[in-house]
Amino acid sequence: MVITNVEPIVLNSKLIQKFYFSQWHYESRTICIVKVVTDEGYVGWGEGYGPANVIKAAIEFYAPFVLNQNPLENETIWQKMHRRSLDFARRGIMLSAISAIDNAIWDLKGKILNQPVSILLGGRKRDSVPVYASAMYFTETDDLTQTLVEEAVVLKESGFKAMKMKVGLGIEQDLKNIEAIRKAIGPEIKLMIDANHAYNYREAIQLAHQAEPFNIFWFEEPLSPEEYDKYYELRQNTSIPIATGECEFLRDGFLTLLKNKSADILQPDLGAAGGLTEVKKIASLANAYGVEVIPHCWGTGIAVATALQFLSNIDITPGRMFAPEPFLELDRSENGLREELIKPAVQVEDGRMKIPNKPGLGIEIDEDALRKYAIS
Ligand SMILES: [Mg+2]
Repeated sequence: MVITNVEPIVLNSKLIQKFYFSQWHYESRTICIVKVVTDEGYVGWGEGYGPANVIKAAIEFYAPFVLNQNPLENETIWQKMHRRSLDFARRGIMLSAISAIDNAIWDLKGKILNQPVSILLGGRKRDSVPVYASAMYFTETDDLTQTLVEEAVVLKESGFKAMKMKVGLGIEQDLKNIEAIRKAIGPEIKLMIDANHAYNYREAIQLAHQAEPFNIFWFEEPLSPEEYDKYYELRQNTSIPIATGECEFLRDGFLTLLKNKSADILQPDLGAAGGLTEVKKIASLANAYGVEVIPHCWGTGIAVATALQFLSNIDITPGRMFAPEPFLELDRSENGLREELIKPAVQVEDGRMKIPNKPGLGIEIDEDALRKYAIS
């Protein structure tokens, strides 16, 4: 059996209410997915994280090296793609294209072998995972703090036991938001903060110190992603665990974070860091360094399904009877592509999601939704 078609598809979902984070506004969600087909009619789906039109062009670049390959040989295909662009794509968007194709090939493998991806990764260590709500973005509103508090309370009432809020508006405003949200949700709910690399070291340490009394579960991307040594210094000087990695790529990039002791938690995105083939290796590296992996996940239902399969298999070290479970990041911002594209739909029950046990990623694509959102 060989791969006979690699088709990138750009999807766009206009937002009713635009939102922003520390870097820019979103008025729509535009995402590139890829459909990989074999001569026997099997179809696999993958998704890349990042600017969709660029990922589409990159997928078109890689397609000739994927066509006529055996879809069961995911590492062989990965190597062909990687080596063909290594000279000019050691980081960045080309790797999102490789990731999308790689994840689609895993979906294909599962469907061909009639097994869920989690089994093919080595086995299902869990059938469900706790979900944290990635939420509390900034919106144009008269009272931002109050709006964020209301959102946090709704999330808590809908069963989430963990939630992440954005920071990066300036330390004073961030602290006002953190304090109000912590007060509203009470002490039991896990609360993370995410600056999307908005701060320099001096600002980050100031925010970390002042946020410490509010029991922050982790501080995500406080600093620019390349400041590996500053991340280490920050870790040395705050009790809040430091998380980063959504802007990092490949095992070599994550090895740099690990060697510099830059993070307590690594967050590779399965649609950018190199796909399931590479992120499994990144997770093994992290495990050897005693560092946790909680993938970054921010896209359509395909990205959610890919993360779930990965999380089913991931190792937690040290092992013990009541070991903590790995979290799925579930974006709660408005996104039709997450809600409508896959069947069965993304469904959270009491703050948890079941990991599909159907072949491949365990999902089907809703063709009506695909037609509705496809723009190229
Ligand atoms: Mg983040």
